[in-house]
Amino acid sequence: MSVEAKISVNATSLAERLARPELLSLEPYQSARRIGGEGQIWINANESPFNNSELEGLNRYPECQPPELIQRYADYAGLSSRQVLTSRGADEAIELLIRTFCIPGRDSIACFGPTYGMYAISAQTFNVDVNALRLDAAYQLPQDLPSLVGDAKLVFICNPNNPTGTVIEPDAIEAVIRSLPDTLVVVDEAYIEFSPELSVVKLVERYDNLVVLRTLSKAFALAGARCGFMLANEAIIEMVMRVIAPYPVPLPVAKLAIEALSAEGIERMQTQVDTLKANGERLAAALTAAGARVLPAFGNFVLAYFDQANEAKVGEMQARLKQAGVVARAYKDPALADAIRFSFTSDEQTDALLAQLSQRA
Ligand code: PMP
Repeated sequence: MSVEAKISVNATSLAERLARPELLSLEPYQSARRIGGEGQIWINANESPFNNSELEGLNRYPECQPPELIQRYADYAGLSSRQVLTSRGADEAIELLIRTFCIPGRDSIACFGPTYGMYAISAQTFNVDVNALRLDAAYQLPQDLPSLVGDAKLVFICNPNNPTGTVIEPDAIEAVIRSLPDTLVVVDEAYIEFSPELSVVKLVERYDNLVVLRTLSKAFALAGARCGFMLANEAIIEMVMRVIAPYPVPLPVAKLAIEALSAEGIERMQTQVDTLKANGERLAAALTAAGARVLPAFGNFVLAYFDQANEAKVGEMQARLKQAGVVARAYKDPALADAIRFSFTSDEQTDALLAQLSQRA
């Protein structure tokens, strides 16, 4: 390779090499908000001049990436604001990654089941193949991962994993990131506040092929607001910004999210995480006493298998829960046919659940 060719290869970011080629020359939509301007009379966006709400500025389009929200999350995650993108929940971030990097009908993603279903569904809705790999018997990544992953553009690792609640140690994830330098390794940390020591967010500085997904839907108690985050090097964020909608974050959502990420908001979140984890331990113990095989729970939920001989059977347990008005989660995946996932809940509701579980069937 000539020196010039080498330089030009090095000068191209991984994001540019992996992106759908048509995005490289695409000029993102120039919304009125993006173009901006200066003055007192704003008549550039076909907005209404009337604000009929108490929320200041609701008659105006919001910023594509509200700077205060981005800065708050960057501070919370220990990154620079250029490494943060906000989206309508982590679900939209999953979709954006697939749309940015996968060519429909040609590319594929890989994930490790049983895991969160939206990686596969999002890919399928864009005609992107899914290499549906499995975690091993200990809920760890398979040994020969690089060869199994093949030429997948994106590899999704959910940590802590939904629905098993199990975890993969950061060292093992770093080994995967190193072994797949030309693949984006997407670590979904939707539940990381329940096991913060397991985050790989610090590695974003070091590896250009790492993307971390986060959300305010779980520990921050804002599932209804739809606010998630993508954390990655600047080149990846810049590429995804070519695909994102002009106004993905509604103004009221940005306000709520900014409050949630204040010092008080973060402290309240941590207190609630402690409460939920304590209730989770009580629930796991009660499920074990009721005959279930319970997996170690690192998120805000526990997966209980009702598959032990002469003990509570899953059908019986489902019937009991239904009768008691408890809506827990069952699965179609054959590997989870005997399992029920229970989200951790308040003191009161946990007491009620424990009372139910202690009754003999
Ligand atoms: N990732 C995982 C692992 C999840 O469990 C969920 C929601 N159940 C999401 C992402 C989506 O989160 P959001 O509400 O931010 O779209």
